[in-house]
Amino acid sequence: MSARVLVVDDILANRKLLQAKLSHEYFEVVTASNGREAIDAAITESPDIILLDVMMPEMDGFEACEILKTSQDTAHIPVVMVTALGDREHRLKGLTAGADDFLTKPVDDFALLSRIQALTKYKLVLDELRLREASGRRIGVIEGEDSRGPVEPARILVIDDNERQARRIGLTLKQEHRPILWTDLKSQGGSGSAAIDLIVLTLDAKTFDPLRLCAHFKSQKSTRDLPILIVADFEEEAKAMRALQLGASDVIMRPIDTEELSARVRTQVRKKRSLDAIRKRLDESMELAITDQLTGLFNRRHMMKQLGQYLKRANTGGPPVSVFIADIDHFKRVNDTYGHDVGDEVLQEFAARIKDNVRPGDIPCRQGGEEFVVIMPDTTGDLASAAAERLRRNIAGKSFSVDRDRRSLDVTVSVGVSTSDNQKCTIDELIKRADEALYEAKEAGRNQVKSHAA
Ligand SMILES: [Mg+2]
Repeated sequence: MSARVLVVDDILANRKLLQAKLSHEYFEVVTASNGREAIDAAITESPDIILLDVMMPEMDGFEACEILKTSQDTAHIPVVMVTALGDREHRLKGLTAGADDFLTKPVDDFALLSRIQALTKYKLVLDELRLREASGRRIGVIEGEDSRGPVEPARILVIDDNERQARRIGLTLKQEHRPILWTDLKSQGGSGSAAIDLIVLTLDAKTFDPLRLCAHFKSQKSTRDLPILIVADFEEEAKAMRALQLGASDVIMRPIDTEELSARVRTQVRKKRSLDAIRKRLDESMELAITDQLTGLFNRRHMMKQLGQYLKRANTGGPPVSVFIADIDHFKRVNDTYGHDVGDEVLQEFAARIKDNVRPGDIPCRQGGEEFVVIMPDTTGDLASAAAERLRRNIAGKSFSVDRDRRSLDVTVSVGVSTSDNQKCTIDELIKRADEALYEAKEAGRNQVKSHAA
């Protein structure tokens, strides 16, 4: 997986060195020599990741990071702080300043590549979600995640068959979170992953294959989006790299620095929650885009799209699709007599009854006004007429109770049915035939079902 990396350092030799290492691994590299330039380049070059030197004249890395992480345009770009070796203070300060990760100079190849790989993977997912959100309904600005300060306690699954090691990790995590220890995978096999925010997985397990487990989590729908933090020994670099390729999110090396562990866990939990929030917003906006607001049934746009797909299938030798159009009789009178509020209540009650009277595979839609369409996949005309008749009887058989006074209204419906019957039936044709049948039903005195003779 390649990416565009912005390297920021005030010393030319350092920039050249990082550029060479990254180009060697086929990353695209752009450079900046101070904090100001970095902020400009972050906007104009849209990098996937920023490697930011801490010690620079005028604006240092912390200040630049702070600005990058609080600006709308750049908050989503992962920042890795590059600090002097052994400068633990700086590393932790960087993480609290909003940096996503840190590297120490001289930059170790494995650390460099694994961090970049982990962060660009995260950014790819984020970019895709942001793109989908931006191309969908405009539902407001996407805030950059606030990467500073503490996070809400998370449920963290620690998987390590060395009980002593697992307990030690658990003890550190307990200060902020709710760790759950898995030391015997066989006895834990049935446990679900519900409500887990993060998995901490050791690579030196004896009783199970950690890479296989990592791959398993990443292949299951229920656990695919869970971040995995790998715990590795220094001689396990290759294995750790493999874990990252399999989808793990981050690596921490033994001996574990407890503050580093806390900071990495915090970052992963924050990222997961940020992605979850965007996913949830996306689901909601997608639902909004296909739903009729008043009745909760599907809207006309979704109806046309679904009908198009089922018709295409029917026209190429698949099972037939039927539709019926249900139109509430004398609806105008309801509005004129009782007002639009009561009219809306009638529409809602009507929609609820349609929902109750169709099969799970049917697609009930509000076409507009008092006209409803139900798409019935894999359904012959006879069955569709029977379903329409069932609905008609239900509507006429039990009066609608509306309004605050629980007024009771008698409502009836006329229905027209049509079915795809040849090799080149179009949406317009199918709807037109159902409309003609509906017209017949109205003409014949309403409160009845007519089907278009094929
Ligand atoms: Mg410097």
